[in-house]
Amino acid sequence: MAAVILKDGSRREYPQPVTPLAVARELSQRLAAEAVVAKVNGVLWDLNREMPAEAELELLDFENPEARNVYRHSTAHLMAQAVRQLYPGVRLAIGPAIEDGFYYDFDLDKTFTPEDLVKIQARMAELARANQQIERRVLSRDKALALFREQGEDYKVELIEALPEDAEISLYQQGDFVDLCAGPHVGSTGRLKAFKLTSVAGAYWRGDEHQPMLQRIYGTSFPKASQLEEHLALLEEAKKRDHRKLGRELDLFSLSEEGPGMPIYHPNGVVIWNELLKLWREEHGKDGYLEIRTPQILNKRLWERSGHWDNYADKMYFTEVDETPFALKPMNCPGAMLWYLTSHHSYRDFPLRSAELGLVHRHELSGALHGLMRVRAFTQDDAHIFMLPSQIEEEVGGVIELVDRLYKVFGLEYKLELSTKPEKFMGTEEQWEAATSALMRVLEKRGIDYKINPGDGAFYGPKIDFHILDSLKRGWQCATIQLDFQMPERFDLTYTGEDGQEHRPVIVHRVAYGAIDRFLGILIEHFAGAFPVWLAPVQVKILPIADRHHEYCRKLAAKLQKAGIRVQADLRNEKIGFKIRQAETEKVPYMLVVGDKEVEAGKAALRTRVEGDVGQVDVKEFQERVLAEIKTRKLG
Ligand SMILES: [Zn+2]
Ligand SMILES: [Zn+2]
Repeated sequence: MAAVILKDGSRREYPQPVTPLAVARELSQRLAAEAVVAKVNGVLWDLNREMPAEAELELLDFENPEARNVYRHSTAHLMAQAVRQLYPGVRLAIGPAIEDGFYYDFDLDKTFTPEDLVKIQARMAELARANQQIERRVLSRDKALALFREQGEDYKVELIEALPEDAEISLYQQGDFVDLCAGPHVGSTGRLKAFKLTSVAGAYWRGDEHQPMLQRIYGTSFPKASQLEEHLALLEEAKKRDHRKLGRELDLFSLSEEGPGMPIYHPNGVVIWNELLKLWREEHGKDGYLEIRTPQILNKRLWERSGHWDNYADKMYFTEVDETPFALKPMNCPGAMLWYLTSHHSYRDFPLRSAELGLVHRHELSGALHGLMRVRAFTQDDAHIFMLPSQIEEEVGGVIELVDRLYKVFGLEYKLELSTKPEKFMGTEEQWEAATSALMRVLEKRGIDYKINPGDGAFYGPKIDFHILDSLKRGWQCATIQLDFQMPERFDLTYTGEDGQEHRPVIVHRVAYGAIDRFLGILIEHFAGAFPVWLAPVQVKILPIADRHHEYCRKLAAKLQKAGIRVQADLRNEKIGFKIRQAETEKVPYMLVVGDKEVEAGKAALRTRVEGDVGQVDVKEFQERVLAEIKTRKLG
């Protein structure tokens, strides 16, 4: 006897165990055709794998993020099967689903070319048409090891050896191809309809630079060709907006091999950086934040006290001062605690909002580094708010409003997520319970929609994360608000309460931009380099048509500059068409073209980034318009 309980609570009985696919077919052909994978008793499960005798069954289609990963990961297997057939001697590493697609890492003497990708994709299409069943097998450790040793699959052998002794080892077979995998997958290769291999890149085995360099082929897949096309168009747009490419073209920043993951900001980039900080200081000033600055390197003792030495050392950089070990700060918190300890505090001082634009260093694996999005040195717009437990709701609410004000300036939408107690945590259940429900109350009182991430909180407290949606609707985690009852204990922070006794304050750690470097990277892509006037490194470019207009242009430039506008006069001996095109490539918002007529009328001919040629304008009126746009931080 086997029983299946469906999501609506209905119960179905069978004389012997059945597969999710069989149940789906009974329910409806469409359901069976659209289901990618099942969830059985809460665990992802192959559609064609028999369920246990008592099974709660849920059928997931491609719209479900977990099912989407299964679909893409199954396509990675299909790719590996094709590569194996086409390139004998290749060794396979791993092939997970990633956001928006999948990859597989291969070890092969030959370098994959774009032509190879075409060939591999064609073979994948053949294998999909053959509609081979994808079947799960469970093997003993010894048998699995023998199998992969015989095939020369050293990486698979290494993966099996790294599994715990009692781990169940499963293999998946499709046609002649077998791969080590925990699963699950789609039921047959014919389920994989629309796929595209997008690129190939080098990647170290296990992301470690001391390990062999492998070739990583990226791809993506969808059930419908129209979905794939739409996605590829979006990718094309994202490529044009790639902040590394635009960062070079607009001369904003660079990265050097002498300091991997440590950006060098060029004058144009620093202009934007400083504008971001100016806005930041204005908004924080309104909320009464006090800005502090704390040291870059601090004594080992401090990091032991903060818990970083035990919990975070693998990401830290170390040095020595007067034969004493010191560490470069990976976070600003301990410095802020030292500041708090420099004076005595009373409940009347609370809430005490201290902010710090702190440069931190964290060791990321070199393979993980990516432009400004994943770096080793970055500046956080950090703040630590010291408060009474009774002030939590109001303070957290205030931070949410501050972040909302900031993001609105850039036209950025966002979603909120609440992360709860992780497996490894400090403090008591009661503290976590109180902190988590306080955060929930803040969100619910304000009618804010949010998603819960169970177990994803920091080890010292629950948190609220802001996920920005950029103009291509891509999500980026930026601001975060974390409640902390632990640091006050570790640093023995106290305040004198109304009762005259000493008590522990509560701390909120929060960032608004997050890492300013990363936020800048997001903005470059969000605006495709065409920054609003207030952020544009050069706001107005003045373009004389001939040498005899230079004098007029110089004076015009000086006048606008004095008024507070970032202006550049292009006095090179080039054709006007060339100068205009270059200013357009530089995405300068305004151009003033000056010829005989303009000099005579005491005016300038305006071209804008958005409207093109506008015609003659009064210089004074133009100046007022630009200044107003800067002042109001007008978008677009
Ligand atoms: Zn797999
Ligand atoms: Zn902190």
